[in-house]
Amino acid sequence: MLQHQHFLWTFFVLWDYLSQPWDYVIVALFSVLPDIDITPKKFQFLPKVLRDPLNLITSLIWKIFYLPYVMVAGWFIGEKALEHRTITHALWPALMLSAIIYWFYPQGGLLAFASYVLHLYFDSITKSGVRWLYPWLYIRGRLNTSSWWQRFIPDVVLAGALYLQTPAWLPLLLFALLIKEVRLS
Ligand SMILES: [Zn+2]
Repeated sequence: MLQHQHFLWTFFVLWDYLSQPWDYVIVALFSVLPDIDITPKKFQFLPKVLRDPLNLITSLIWKIFYLPYVMVAGWFIGEKALEHRTITHALWPALMLSAIIYWFYPQGGLLAFASYVLHLYFDSITKSGVRWLYPWLYIRGRLNTSSWWQRFIPDVVLAGALYLQTPAWLPLLLFALLIKEVRLS
């Protein structure tokens, strides 16, 4: 899915659970954080006043957390670990990062974990898929994000869900119909 879709969908699903100002920052950040492996500058769809601080926090997380993680994973897995949608698109960093936040702020830790998992879920319905327990448990779907019209399906579904005021779990469940393949490795 596209960056703005991850962002909007995560807010749509978690909206009722947000109360503190920090909750919004955490959800904004973690909704697109796994894509830290492709985009050095993120949140391009947001106004500069929001984009700059979020980019700053993202790059700090990259330097403090992901670089050591990439080095350790690279040691075990080899250069493949540095490609897009590999070690950042897995439950491991979701668990580790949200555990750190949970230590200081439990509600934020849970929101961080939920946002990260939603990112993995939304990428799992696309053709390239996600290895949830990287390098194992490969789940991929039918959505072709390089097709000019298919890439907007998540936007259309979101607009429909907002218009019809459906509960968030309903379109989420519908997306599962797009899953094509689940295999262990
Ligand atoms: Zn992604």
